[in-house]
Amino acid sequence: MSDLRVRFAPSPTGYLHVGGARTALFNWLLARQQGGTFILRIEDTDVERSTSESVDAILEGMKWLGLDWDEGPFYQSESFPLYKEYVRKLLEAGKAYKCYCTAEELDAKRNLAMQEGRKPKYDGTCRERADQPDGQPYVVRFRAPQGGVTSFNDLIKGTITFPNEELDDLIIQRTDGTPTYNFCVVIDDATMRITTVIRGDDHVNNTPRQVQLYEALGFPVPQFAHVPMILGSDKARLSKRHGATSVIAYRDMGYLPEALMNYLVRLGWSSGDDEIFSREEMIQKFDICNVGRSASVFNTEKLNWLNAHYIKNSEPERLAALLQPHLAARGVSTLGGPDLAAVVKTLQERAQTLEEMAERAVFYYNAPVNYDDAALAKFDKELLAEVFAKVTEKLSGSATNSIPEIDALFKEICSENGWKMGQVGQPVRIALSGGTQAPGIGEIVMTLGAEETIRRIQKAREFVSGK
Ligand code: GLU
Repeated sequence: MSDLRVRFAPSPTGYLHVGGARTALFNWLLARQQGGTFILRIEDTDVERSTSESVDAILEGMKWLGLDWDEGPFYQSESFPLYKEYVRKLLEAGKAYKCYCTAEELDAKRNLAMQEGRKPKYDGTCRERADQPDGQPYVVRFRAPQGGVTSFNDLIKGTITFPNEELDDLIIQRTDGTPTYNFCVVIDDATMRITTVIRGDDHVNNTPRQVQLYEALGFPVPQFAHVPMILGSDKARLSKRHGATSVIAYRDMGYLPEALMNYLVRLGWSSGDDEIFSREEMIQKFDICNVGRSASVFNTEKLNWLNAHYIKNSEPERLAALLQPHLAARGVSTLGGPDLAAVVKTLQERAQTLEEMAERAVFYYNAPVNYDDAALAKFDKELLAEVFAKVTEKLSGSATNSIPEIDALFKEICSENGWKMGQVGQPVRIALSGGTQAPGIGEIVMTLGAEETIRRIQKAREFVSGK
């Protein structure tokens, strides 16, 4: 085990967003690569907005992606005594102070600063205050360094420097005694001995304040890596407006976890021109320092391409198990029908998602009740009747134990009757599936079985002759 300790620290105020999942993935990859420790911490200090449903949704998303953690989940709401203890320490050391300014006073000062064109900033009224008015509500503020700068070296963005002048005396404890967000993060990261903080770059502005707190508390400052945001096609931050953003929504739309993982790892990170990365390859090759500095645009087409790749290369049995709920959602039962893994084999070459595959698998279990009229209309009625009759006759009297055998039968039907394959294959495909978007005839017949095939052709024959 190495000393590397990283963490994923979601706020449980919603589902696991793909951006959050990518942050978790980068942390996880680094931990797995270096034999470090990956910690899961739930940042639920915002009691109003945090819910246990959201915690469950986040854990579900992580488990689905296979992002296993080594320690936690730890809940910030369970650490309030710890935070209080550190507030006390800072107060005792004179590195924090009680501020009695009322909200009205602060508002008035802020308005005045704005009117005078100054940056609104706490003016330090209580910084050097000697009296401690009894029984009056107060917040605790961090006594931030006044002059100079605060700098940190970001593994992705390089050195980032903030003039201390721009940083307020941060409130670390509210009037109701609860600790504030930036303070909790520092205490947690420090006491959990986090060595590398990888998080979204929407937190860059929090970092100098956090660095100051580490220094004031005498903790070593961890390394930071701020990952650029994920954007939608219009270059605005990826949100529901652009489509699904939740990891679980991608599962429900029929994406495989390894496809989403592969997609997310490439979003902002590259290794040569490679696009396909197995879990092991990602772990081996990932380098946080190679994450790009600019934001990446979410591209569903590329995700679909990757998903199609993984579907094509997955074991049919595994896909069958994953496909089952998608069929159930359509009210389709596979009981008594063809083996689902066999069905998958006929569809996995061409499906981009499991949803798409489910849609195309339905006809195997539910014989068509309607036929694609426009497609049928392309064939002469007499020809259809004849084709259906000949195919039935041939199938009834021949062995149909393999796809090549069935394909050969259809070739024979064509040559014996002077028909082209399109004149036979397409009507039969319509008879078996209701439409023309179906796998090859040999595959369908093999999967349905000769008996069911004949039954369906018979039905189509009656349909056509009744017209
Ligand atoms: N809880 C923060 C969020 O969900 C993450 C903070 C951090 O990683 O430091 O955005």
